[in-house]
Amino acid sequence: MTPEEAWRDLDLDLADYLAKKAITPSCRAGCFACCFGLVTLSRLEGEALLPHLTEAQKERVLKEGPWRLALLAQGKEQKDFPSRFFRSRTPCPFLEGGLCGVYPHRPLACRGLLTAGDPALCAPEALAPEGHFLPAPWRMARRRMEALWEEEARRYGHVLLGEMVGLLYLLLTRLPKERKEVETRLKALGVLGGRWGFEVF
Ligand code: SF4
Repeated sequence: MTPEEAWRDLDLDLADYLAKKAITPSCRAGCFACCFGLVTLSRLEGEALLPHLTEAQKERVLKEGPWRLALLAQGKEQKDFPSRFFRSRTPCPFLEGGLCGVYPHRPLACRGLLTAGDPALCAPEALAPEGHFLPAPWRMARRRMEALWEEEARRYGHVLLGEMVGLLYLLLTRLPKERKEVETRLKALGVLGGRWGFEVF
């Protein structure tokens, strides 16, 4: 399975699920509270996204990547790191005028986050109640992620997972392909392991 196939298949599965359950998501163009959150993706998804980035988007990744990696190195052991980051309202570098600038190529994690509830509850300060984000679409996205991890393990002998902007920055700055070299680079940056750090398995 390729990331492109995983993206397409998840979109088809989601459309089918929502139609069968008669669920209409309240997610709309111009509604972007979830784009303040940390997004995790695998190396394969990152490599599939990179060729579609504009020069301006690449520049933003190169500018913001080191900052996000440093933040992760400081906060990766802290229980509330993702929620504090979310509340900081730091927009995804691909958010352009309130719209996703990489929409056809956005990660599975972005595709699987849907709600049929009040969009005001998606805001960082709102503390969305349990079940606000639809659990079944998220599980469907997770299954596609796991299929991609299997493919990545076949291709590289290991799987690399991490925060999207930091990972894209590492790929743009020639992250090695060998597991040991990847781990050495991540360790040197202080972002390997811990509660929220990069994972290699
Ligand atoms: S990739 Fe697109 S959908 Fe995902 S967080 Fe960034 S702007 Fe939002």
